[in-house]
Amino acid sequence: MTLALHNTLTRRLEPFQPLAPPRVTLYTCGPTVWNYAHIGNFRTFLFEDLLRRYLEFSGYDVFHIMNLTDVDDRTIKAAAAAGKRLEEHTAPFVEAFFADCDYLRIRKAHVYPRATQSVPAMVRLVQRLLDAGVAYRGEDGSVYFAIAKFPSYGRLSQLDRREIKIGARVASDEYAKDDPRDFALWKRADPIDERVGAAWDAPFGRGRPGWHLECSAMSLDQIGKCCRVETLDIHAGGVDLIFPHHEDEIAQSEAATGQPFARYWLHGEFLKVGGTKMSKRFGNFLTARDLREQSVDAAAVRLLFSQTHYRRALDFSDEALAAAGQGVKRLGEFRDRLVRAGGPATPDGRLAALAARFESDFRAALDDDLNAPRACAALFELVHDGNGALDAGAAGGAVARDALDRAMAVLDVLPTPRAVEPGFAGWVDERIAARDKARGAKDFREADRIRAELKAKGVEIEDTPSGTKWRMV
Ligand code: AMP
Ligand code: ZN
Repeated sequence: MTLALHNTLTRRLEPFQPLAPPRVTLYTCGPTVWNYAHIGNFRTFLFEDLLRRYLEFSGYDVFHIMNLTDVDDRTIKAAAAAGKRLEEHTAPFVEAFFADCDYLRIRKAHVYPRATQSVPAMVRLVQRLLDAGVAYRGEDGSVYFAIAKFPSYGRLSQLDRREIKIGARVASDEYAKDDPRDFALWKRADPIDERVGAAWDAPFGRGRPGWHLECSAMSLDQIGKCCRVETLDIHAGGVDLIFPHHEDEIAQSEAATGQPFARYWLHGEFLKVGGTKMSKRFGNFLTARDLREQSVDAAAVRLLFSQTHYRRALDFSDEALAAAGQGVKRLGEFRDRLVRAGGPATPDGRLAALAARFESDFRAALDDDLNAPRACAALFELVHDGNGALDAGAAGGAVARDALDRAMAVLDVLPTPRAVEPGFAGWVDERIAARDKARGAKDFREADRIRAELKAKGVEIEDTPSGTKWRMV
């Protein structure tokens, strides 16, 4: 079987076929760094991490772009409220975002273009749209996109014209536009923009980019530089971005390039709390740092999110997180057992058969629109049946451990190793060297004593052909 993904453009499951395999260009809308991201935002970023990791696991060469929205209505408002310049206000949130990604073991994007550092590309895109006659300067000095000039507008969100009108009216100064549905590409600079340093000169007037324009300009700029194309293989984000954000991204990009903007659109469902979307606005949020301060193992968060399909809403609760924590612990214990049952390369038939079945189920599940809950079910079946085999005396755990480790390149849900104090690793190395010396002198009593000494400190050692390895248990 090959990978099939649900494409929001067609509302169908489609075989995944990138433009120029094995390369895959992936753009994911990044955080708005006006504040700390909450774990609802991270549900989306973790779904994208699953997508990225599974593409790589499947042999694709992924070029992953994630932008940082460091200038928009929210960042400007927050900076002004804090009496700071934009850059000064967003810097700590950018840093916190990367620290949170590390904590959650999110694979790093290859580039993180920042809106404030990509203004020239944005100005060029607006100019291109003006030249093409699909954009115009409104009476208020802002530049708007003329939706009437882009007949396929609404294709992604499948909204009819009436709904689009209602959607657009919410945040618009209608008097300035030719059509109330039109959206701003470039907003004329306000005094507040000037105050926080969020205004740039452009041939069509001093101002700042609209949020939708930022993503179009940054993605086209990056794939142009890396791959000389104007079409992304995959564009992803949360479902709330389908309209108007992604709809507007398509309109701007395709009106400028004449090429399809993205071949596959993937959208992740919400993280909720008691049935309500987790959101700063509703105050029902938790941040990654809250969890870290509560000493929650990031693996538990990863497992919890993996156990619900990305296109289904997930209700967050402490109980569900604790249950996922138990699952992580079971996995870690199982792996430890496999390591202990390692031994010579004469794999026990039962464990090898279980491992082979697991790997094929695991792939089939993820090939089916990233069905991570089914992949997790296969994983826990391996744990259950593998423990049964080990209880019955099966040996040669290496083959099952290798299968487990390969799957972890995608799910990455084994317990986080306990941090060791500085100097501790040096002490362990010194003890292992002393043990080697004792063994060399055939002083096995001393060697066993040192092994026990290490064990008392929670260090387990394993003698391998390439030397003695150790880890915390
Ligand atoms: P923002 O920082 O507001 O631009 O949002 C970053 C990402 O988080 C976007 O892809 C949103 O769709 C996503 N997002 C926002 N709230 C939630 C939520 N409760 N559950 C899942 N994703 C969310
Ligand atoms: Zn975006």
